[in-house]
Amino acid sequence: VRRAAYAQAEGPGRTADGRPVPLLANVGGPAELDAAVAAGAEGIGLFRTEFLFLNRTEPPGVEEQVPVYRAAARAFPGGKVIVRTLDAGADKALAFLPVPPEPNPALGERGVRLFRRYPQVMEAQLDALAAAGDLMVMAPMVATAEEAEWFTRACRSHGIAQAGVMIEIPSAALRAGDLLSSADFVSIGTNDLSQYAFAADRQLGAVSALQDPWQPVLLDLVALTATAAREAGKACGICGESAADPAMACVLVGLGATTLSMGAGALPGVRAALAAHTSDECRLAADAARDAVTAVEARAAARAYLPALG
Ligand code: PEP
Ligand code: MG
Repeated sequence: VRRAAYAQAEGPGRTADGRPVPLLANVGGPAELDAAVAAGAEGIGLFRTEFLFLNRTEPPGVEEQVPVYRAAARAFPGGKVIVRTLDAGADKALAFLPVPPEPNPALGERGVRLFRRYPQVMEAQLDALAAAGDLMVMAPMVATAEEAEWFTRACRSHGIAQAGVMIEIPSAALRAGDLLSSADFVSIGTNDLSQYAFAADRQLGAVSALQDPWQPVLLDLVALTATAAREAGKACGICGESAADPAMACVLVGLGATTLSMGAGALPGVRAALAAHTSDECRLAADAARDAVTAVEARAAARAYLPALG
């Protein structure tokens, strides 16, 4: 029966006992929308907008941005479409957003921090997002409740109904409840959350073992965030690459994630893994992984509760 569920899963994401887990796509630009629809994504969990801003001397105007965001909304009528505001910084310097040279760009003025230096760029992006349709909007690299409130207020002043924040810094995960007193939802970016939890540059092969999403500390940070979101009655998505691993996807659901977002190619495998396991199994797998000490042990412990994955 399990094997059949595993092989045949189609349609919306759900666990074997029927708990819905919307499966969303990470999209890096309009060219990826068709593949996301074809893979059966139920919406977009992370629409990265950097492509609109790269390699130019002036920022794109509102009229240039609106059709891009509208195309994303129209690709998923009735589905969630979450657009992330510009995530730039000293490592991806833009000619029209000059940042003084920084010794540690990953720790510098990036993401929402840069928006505070250049509010006019944010204003234009939020204007375009508000005009484009029914979109959810979230900010990257939010560290504090005060930043979350500042961003949420900016979204509201543009008429954006759903304003969220990414959880990619440990300070934000540890105090997710405070951020959720203003934000409408959170989405965990496990790529950066690992980088900052382990002080390990995500682009540096020499420290890549520390980037392993099975590290129990990362699971603890996800659990803290998801618990805070549940208590606040708000959604907690995952949009880092870790959600693309079918076993990890089950664990993330067991930790309390309400949606999962990934590259379109990973959707069938994750859909199948969820369909073959109950929410109880996902929770037991999550608990076992958090009880482990190393990433290797965590993965093995979780898989003992996820029999369909072999
Ligand atoms: C993340 O950090 O996990 C994330 C989804 O954002 P990006 O990979 O674009 O930094
Ligand atoms: Mg990130």
